[in-house]
Amino acid sequence: MRMYDIIEKKKHGEVLSDSEIEFFVKGYTEGTVPDYQASALCMAICFRGMTDGEIYALTDCMMHSGQTVDLSPLGDRSVDKHSTGGVGDKTTLIVAPIAASLGAKVSKMSGRGLGHTGGTVDKLSSIPGFRTSLSEEDFIAQVKKVGVAVIGQTADLTPADKKLYALRDVTATVDSIPLIASSVMCKKLAVGSRSVVLDVKVGSGAFLKTPEEAEKLARCMVGIGKNNGRRMAALITDMDEPLGDNVGNVLEVKEAVSVLRDGKQGNLKKVCVALATQMVSLSLGLEREEAERRVNEAISSGLAYEKMKEWIGAQGGDVSYIEDTSKLASAEYQVPVLSESDGFIISTDALKVGTAAALLGAGRISKETAIDYSAGIVLAKQTGDYVKKGDVLCTLHTSDESRIAQARDMFLSSVSFGDEKPAEKPLIYKSIT
Ligand code: URA
Repeated sequence: MRMYDIIEKKKHGEVLSDSEIEFFVKGYTEGTVPDYQASALCMAICFRGMTDGEIYALTDCMMHSGQTVDLSPLGDRSVDKHSTGGVGDKTTLIVAPIAASLGAKVSKMSGRGLGHTGGTVDKLSSIPGFRTSLSEEDFIAQVKKVGVAVIGQTADLTPADKKLYALRDVTATVDSIPLIASSVMCKKLAVGSRSVVLDVKVGSGAFLKTPEEAEKLARCMVGIGKNNGRRMAALITDMDEPLGDNVGNVLEVKEAVSVLRDGKQGNLKKVCVALATQMVSLSLGLEREEAERRVNEAISSGLAYEKMKEWIGAQGGDVSYIEDTSKLASAEYQVPVLSESDGFIISTDALKVGTAAALLGAGRISKETAIDYSAGIVLAKQTGDYVKKGDVLCTLHTSDESRIAQARDMFLSSVSFGDEKPAEKPLIYKSIT
């Protein structure tokens, strides 16, 4: 078999056989297929797509390119949740303890952020002492005892995806439904949770820009999971606007605490209730209405907040920083950005807000950049609010004064004004179960 012929075949829109897909994935992981041939095939897949059968075969090969985790000791209640990535998306910090407090077994591997999107591992790392790396044995033992463990991706898990994702990132081949679906689902299947809830983001701050594309991706991933015997649900949620008010690692931990402890309301809470409801419904086998009632009760009673502290403490985090979040690292410079116009905010572009936060030091511009955990943006106004010239739109947080001017310009370019209050846009476009 030759890689050349496989590329040629996909270039002409033909269907690849299971053995051709295996030849590619195995060869690329082991280094016998070079980057240039792998990227040519990825580009052909971007243009020509793949059948469901090809996507299932690709996912399966990537899942088996490394170790898989056996979660059978957790029984039927293991549940995972995955977001396709966005700005201000701190939902895992909120939904994982909610679901665990209700008896689900939340076993999750999360990624680091890159570019304008944040990563859960970075947010958790901003809590002093928190360990994002656990042995498989400790991981399972913690989920059994506490009901939740969240760790970073290990070197042994889905090495094919690790290599391929890094290649796609620099060859303009990320935004392909077969490639995203197989990349996300090979990791979910390798970790082995019985139920998986997907949060497929759509909008300027997401990889997919239209609800139609997002639905196609969601249905594709749900199909892969079901084909592998998993209970699946997917929500398609808005990422035209940042989720919640805070963007940046410490700032997002603070906001997550304020939802579970202080009763903070708004879009972030709404998305979290919807996601946690799906997690609880799938893993405990409850009707959606009953699951939602329990989720709301877990938040209002403080049960979920107590579980959050137990989880963070179990992973080595200093819980006193959660009890008093003002102890968490704070940025040396906290600079308000004032409105230069009067009017209604008609949109706040998530991609630009995420980029402004990354410029302040909250994200990595390249894979190796160190993060400033205290850096980020706190929005003072949301889309739909009326503002007057001189009102504070947001506060920029950074430890590097030289970053402020560029981030300020980027942030200001994210906000559009109009004379009329904009119609409310959907926050949750669709639920697919
Ligand atoms: N998240 C992933 O894990 N893979 C992709 O391809 C896109 C988002």
